[in-house]
Formats: sequence, structure tokens, C-alpha cells
Amino acid sequence: MNLPKIKILDEKNKTLRKISKDVTFPLTDKEKQDIKDMIKYLTMSQIDEEREKYDLRAGMGLAYIQIGIPKRIFVIVEELDDGSFKNYVVINPKIVSQSEELIYVGEGEGCLSINREVEGIVPRCARITIKAFNEEGEEYQIRVREDIAIAFQHEIDHLNGILFTDRIDKNNPYKNRENMREI
Ligand code: ZN
Repeated sequence: MNLPKIKILDEKNKTLRKISKDVTFPLTDKEKQDIKDMIKYLTMSQIDEEREKYDLRAGMGLAYIQIGIPKRIFVIVEELDDGSFKNYVVINPKIVSQSEELIYVGEGEGCLSINREVEGIVPRCARITIKAFNEEGEEYQIRVREDIAIAFQHEIDHLNGILFTDRIDKNNPYKNRENMREI
């Protein structure tokens, strides 16, 4: 596989702080191609040989703003137990409902735009339901849980200019841990 030519912005880049705007349909050819490229990049980052060959960090999700375009699109690639990949293309998402139960990633959340170790935990809802549109402009509703729910919340934050590090209390990076479930 050839690595798509996309450049992921680093956290120091202020573009990441922009609020992304709603997308209009139909998508342009470039938008469609960018979505394909982002999915391919994430997929390759999860395949050991490709990751090593191209010196990638493994990533599950990528928001359009991370490649510099402030539009409300993100993609998530989930590796399933059988080794295949499930893709989520999420455009103009709206949160319909979310669980009260909070969870966090025990080993710490990661982001392809943050290239350093970050200490602390990020509280996330264990389950969320969202409405969004696919590439064809069709609306759908989806309920996600656990690590995929965290990925969705992480990416929705990107659309609003928020990085996961913003959600960690600087003075108390493990604040309220006892009230959340580790995954
Ligand atoms: Zn991120």
C-alpha cells in the first residue's frame, strides 16, 4: 500500500483551535478523496508492517481539521476481532444522548496531533448516541460504547477546537478517577 499524502497538524498549530463549519452536500470530489485518504492512513497505521515501514503512530480517528480543513468531518477506523476494519464516516454530527456513566482510557488518551507523553485521564461518557450524515448526505443515527464512544467524543472535540489535553486538570491530572471506570 502507498501512504496517502496527508500532513497531520501538530498541537502547536493554531488551526487546530478553529471551530469547524458544517459541510454542505453533495461533497466535492476533493472532500471525498480526503475522506478516503484519512481512512487509508488510519488503516495503514493499524497494520504492523505498514506502521513500521512508514514510521507511523497507530491511530483510530482523524478529524478533517487535523489536516487543516475546518469542516465538520471525521473518520474512525476500528479493527475488528477477525482482523478486518470497520470504517465510520461522520459528517455534521449532533449528540442525541449520552450516558451518565463515565469512563477513561487507563493508559491515557492519544492523538495523532499530540506528539508527546501526556499524564492524566480524560473523563468520557461510556455510551453516546449521535446523528450524523454519511458521504452521500444520508442522515443516520448510531449508538457507540466503550473505546469507540471515546473516539467519537475525542473527534467531536476536534470539530470544536478542543484537544484532549484541555480536559485534563493540570493541578490534579487524576481528578475524580474513583468515580469513573477504567477501560
Ligand atoms: Zn486527536
